[in-house]
Amino acid sequence: MYKKKNIGELLIDFGKISKDDLEEGLALQKEFNLRLGETLIKLGKVTRDDIEWVLSKQLDIPFVIVENISLDASLIHKFSEELLLKNRILPLYETNDEIAVVTDDPLNREVIESLEASSSKKISLSSGNGEQIEETLKQFFRRAGIPSLIQHIKDLLEKIEGTCFYRLDFLLGEHACEMNVFGYGIVKNIGVLRDTYTKEQIFEAFESLGIAFLFDLYTNETSMMFSIYPLIHRLETLKGPAVLGTFGLFHPDDTAFTDSQMQGLPLMFHSPVPVRGYPFIATKKTFSYSENTIFTTDSAPEDFSNYYVRIAVPRICRNCNGAGCITCNELGYEFPEKLEGMHSSDELKQRTEKDIPWPK
Ligand SMILES: [Zn+2]
Repeated sequence: MYKKKNIGELLIDFGKISKDDLEEGLALQKEFNLRLGETLIKLGKVTRDDIEWVLSKQLDIPFVIVENISLDASLIHKFSEELLLKNRILPLYETNDEIAVVTDDPLNREVIESLEASSSKKISLSSGNGEQIEETLKQFFRRAGIPSLIQHIKDLLEKIEGTCFYRLDFLLGEHACEMNVFGYGIVKNIGVLRDTYTKEQIFEAFESLGIAFLFDLYTNETSMMFSIYPLIHRLETLKGPAVLGTFGLFHPDDTAFTDSQMQGLPLMFHSPVPVRGYPFIATKKTFSYSENTIFTTDSAPEDFSNYYVRIAVPRICRNCNGAGCITCNELGYEFPEKLEGMHSSDELKQRTEKDIPWPK
């Protein structure tokens, strides 16, 4: 019975590997944390074609090219992401009594049988390239969680329009995602999403909203924090002062912002009106990028006589005293005063030191 044989034994039967090769593969399998077939490929004992050839010869099942195939989302969601990814099984379609799947390991009887048991349908197998199956699954699950994330980000961006908040923080835990906004030295928690997301999903959400951004990433043992700096007005033509972002940030492709030509100058965003916070301080004395270059910063030098400042000045919401209400969009802060123009530090302190002093 071929079904009882594993891929190693089949490869021996077909003269593709020796018994020694098999033993070496079995010994190293654990160390590589790969399945036997993959281990043998990595060791150079066989090629992927060898394995697929042996399998199709032996099992007489069709070979499916897993590329640009349309996916049945509700079918895929019937199985756990972990199980499908781990075993590289991609469900293709289902009929009343059958579910067709493609896998790179049709000999994985135990898992196939568990699929049959859980779905109460016969699993009909085809074989396909494991890497393509894995990539297709990953892409599928990455996109699956995105619509609700996009909605949260959209809502959030609307909330912080015209405020001092210019940074969105996503704290990715194991089971939840906490969202904070930041600006003017204030960190404000604005909710916890029950699902957690990956870096890629967050990037994809911003991309599908058409919002360019820079990011910063911090990790510890249990969680990961992304700080996203949306460049909302990046594509507008220069009418007002330009903004040169804080250094140390990264583009979504992981290149450093500071590596950009002229330290990000072509990627700056511009707006003629105050946007989404950004406490800006600029100086014409020390920087020559442009007459009106504005630097994003959260702290002002102690003594300056004439700096360009653009800021929505926060004060604690009079209506809810900071708890969050409809008036303040649940932020707990209001922004009745917008400052823009050349200011001295003394003047700024006078005009901003109400509830919340200018951040130091
Ligand atoms: Zn309020």
